[in-house]
Amino acid sequence: MNKRYARSVFSCALALIMAFSILPAGAFAVTQDEIDTLKSQRDEISAQRREKQAVVDELASQHATVLEQKLAMDQRNMYTLQQIQLNSEEIALYDEMIADKAEELAEAKRLEAEQLEKYRARVRAMEENGNYGFLSLVLKTNNLGELLTVMDDVGEIMESDRELEDQYIAARENTEAVKAEYEATKADMEARQAELRAEQAELEKDIEEATLLIAGLEEDIENRRAEYEAILAAEDAANAEIAELVAELERQRQEEMANQGGGSGGGSVSGTGSFIWPTASTYITSRFGLRVHPITGETRSHTGLDVGGSYGDTIAAADGGTVTLAGVNGGYGNCVMIDHGNGYITLYGHMSSIAVTKGQAVSQGDAIGYVGSTGLSTGPHLHFEIWSGGGRIDPEQFFTGLTFSPGAGE
Ligand SMILES: [Zn+2]
Repeated sequence: MNKRYARSVFSCALALIMAFSILPAGAFAVTQDEIDTLKSQRDEISAQRREKQAVVDELASQHATVLEQKLAMDQRNMYTLQQIQLNSEEIALYDEMIADKAEELAEAKRLEAEQLEKYRARVRAMEENGNYGFLSLVLKTNNLGELLTVMDDVGEIMESDRELEDQYIAARENTEAVKAEYEATKADMEARQAELRAEQAELEKDIEEATLLIAGLEEDIENRRAEYEAILAAEDAANAEIAELVAELERQRQEEMANQGGGSGGGSVSGTGSFIWPTASTYITSRFGLRVHPITGETRSHTGLDVGGSYGDTIAAADGGTVTLAGVNGGYGNCVMIDHGNGYITLYGHMSSIAVTKGQAVSQGDAIGYVGSTGLSTGPHLHFEIWSGGGRIDPEQFFTGLTFSPGAGE
């Protein structure tokens, strides 16, 4: 077989991402970005897993092919061995037949020699009884044929004797011919047998090579499959982590929604990002923007909303945050400012009294003071401002259900 099974070597070119980075669970809030990063890492692992799978499949297919080829060689080898066995039996049979013929031949030769000896005896008897001068000639002959020729010459042999001797000679020659034929057949068979043995030896060599190749492929498959399993495990771990983070993100969203809907949970210092209306009254007596000042008579910008109300009405923090100002603040009178930590600041002016101190953390809805008319004011009301990006913006944009009813101002 030699080069028929070129062995493919699959170099493990890909560095496996076995160490899958996982963020410390529960340390901080989960973000969609983190989940997306994990997902792209997971996708990389999935791609590696698919590549490894293709390698394993290719090796398995090679393995199946070589196994099939080896099976065919095994069958051929078995057939060749059977032929060799049959040949051996036949050759042994020929051996027996040749041995039989050898025995027959020996017997024929023995009879021939015996006959020769009889003639010699007769010749000697003839010599003793008469004067046959050719005795010396007869005794020099080496076999029956020569002897018969000599005897024939002298006319001393009867025709019946001659026929009998011819039969002996023919029988011996026939046995010799059959034996020679058997020997030739046997030689042919032995040559064929040698060919079969050479063929069979080559087959055995091929089978051994195939066996080694199969063993090598099986080892490769086992190793690559182990790598595949490891990647698969990493992929499973990544998927599990992603599922966990997605669940955690969802939980955070639910919690956030619950907080926004249900008001203060207590202790939060950062804003929720949405505002609640800070006092009981929803009557706006003066809107945000340009207006004529009720006291000075000047046209100027009103920096917030004036909300009607009664002395002592509770003023609540519109959102959670940190109190950055709690005290008298010029025309605002008793004033509180809250930084919500998300770019928004709220301001509450003209309070009769203040319920918080500077630096205090407040939650959305916490009482921070009470409606009054301190500072530049003509009657009890709340002056409410929302700051964003360093300037004031119209608070009305964040609320619905307010009623505009001009009255007490500033
Ligand atoms: Zn005002």
